[in-house]
Amino acid sequence: METSLQPTVMKFGGTSVEDAHAFERVARIVQSKLDARPVVVVSAMSRFTDALLASVDAAAGGDAEAATRSLGPQFERHMEVARNLLGTEERSEVWDAVETAKRKTSELLRIISQHPVTRPPLQDEIVSYGEQLSALLLSSLLTSNGLSARYVDARLSIVTGEEYGNASPIYEETERRTRQELLPLIEASVIPVMGGFIGASLKKATTTLGRGGSDFTAALVGACLSAREIEIWTDVTGVLTADPRVVEAARTIRLLSYSEAAELAYFGAKVLHPKTIQPAVERHIPVRICNSRAPEEAGTLVCFETEAAPRTVKAIAHKTGITTVQITSGRMLGAYGFLRAIFEIFDRHRTAVDVVTTSEVSVSLSLDDASALPAILEELKRLGEVEVEQGRAIICVVGEGLRSTPGIASWVFSNISDINVSLVSLGASSINLTFAVDEPHVREVVRRLHRAFFEQESEDERVKLAS
Ligand code: ADP
Ligand code: ASP
Ligand code: MG
Repeated sequence: METSLQPTVMKFGGTSVEDAHAFERVARIVQSKLDARPVVVVSAMSRFTDALLASVDAAAGGDAEAATRSLGPQFERHMEVARNLLGTEERSEVWDAVETAKRKTSELLRIISQHPVTRPPLQDEIVSYGEQLSALLLSSLLTSNGLSARYVDARLSIVTGEEYGNASPIYEETERRTRQELLPLIEASVIPVMGGFIGASLKKATTTLGRGGSDFTAALVGACLSAREIEIWTDVTGVLTADPRVVEAARTIRLLSYSEAAELAYFGAKVLHPKTIQPAVERHIPVRICNSRAPEEAGTLVCFETEAAPRTVKAIAHKTGITTVQITSGRMLGAYGFLRAIFEIFDRHRTAVDVVTTSEVSVSLSLDDASALPAILEELKRLGEVEVEQGRAIICVVGEGLRSTPGIASWVFSNISDINVSLVSLGASSINLTFAVDEPHVREVVRRLHRAFFEQESEDERVKLAS
């Protein structure tokens, strides 16, 4: 593509479109970037996806009426934004769309309550109204403000398999259709606005890409269009040195490598969806994380190279709700095929294993999603003695500098020597040190490590500590 036509994908998360003020901020940001040829991807208004999923739960429990009623205030939020911000013509278009969404979700909820087996595909259809409505609202607002913008139904562009709730894109077809839908608009200087998170199967059934999946949509669209940059606009200034809800002193990291960002996202830094980075890496597209409440602040730039100065630790991520499993067997001594037998069991039950450590006679591993565990345990017990612990957390210290810093693990653990840790693993890429603790300790551990790595008086002192 001619360089001047290379677009910039701008993705706005739910917190960036939570109410009329937030929508106005987003419209101003897009307007200020017209030269960059924006392609806009937007999430559902914050908390709407949660509400839609809760309504499906209520319907599956048999109460379709209550389920429908629970969505009333959410639809009203959209009406309110339209009332406050849109011109007459755009307003009536949005109101019609909200009325249709109300009617359709109500019908679908009734079907789920009567025939719970229909839930998986219908749930995705219901949930997709979140992104459909926010994208229509935003494109209408841009049009009302005099810009040339067009709502694009993401289901015409993102093609996926049929794993409802967590569908995988079919890359070639997605690329073909995304280019077909969006390039003519970009060439005509029209701003395409599409919902993130949603797609459609080859048979045209609506699907979703997993929670937080709008980031993934942005990365896919960016890769398909060879974008010059993918911008993830959220409610904090970039990727921070720790989750700001746990560490008040967390601060913005200016530059991250793709691998550092991928590790952080995977191990709980919610600001980026774990799969976001992959399509961007393959096409060498930089990803920038910016704050829609403070657009003037420089956020985080994720790209191929980063300064891998010795001893640089970039951030501490954590995730809770982890289950750890330990399999102990004398048969493991010198026996080959044992590890394969264990992993085949997890594979068969489509359960991803996060962290793995092995010793002479035992294998320990951690799981994010333990829903298939009862069936898995039945099979594991044939291989050895199995111990399960729930309510655990994974902490992950990330930085290219870990590679070249001998003794970092012992230094980390000396700061938390009174707390029990397990599953210690220096990741295969050597840029992450990962371990598990009991959930009640996780906040304390993250705070202490943050203090040790990032809150010492001076850089010198931190270096001395880490040496
Ligand atoms: P969006 O609605 O924009 O998708 P998310 O809620 O998915 O926003 O992600 C942003 C949130 O991620 C922040 O508000 C912050 O609380 C949380 N978060 C967790 N870890 C980090 C981190 N290391 N850096 C920045 N934000 C983080
Ligand atoms: N709205 C979806 C969710 O809440 C997708 C996203 O926000 O990225 O999970
Ligand atoms: Mg998100």
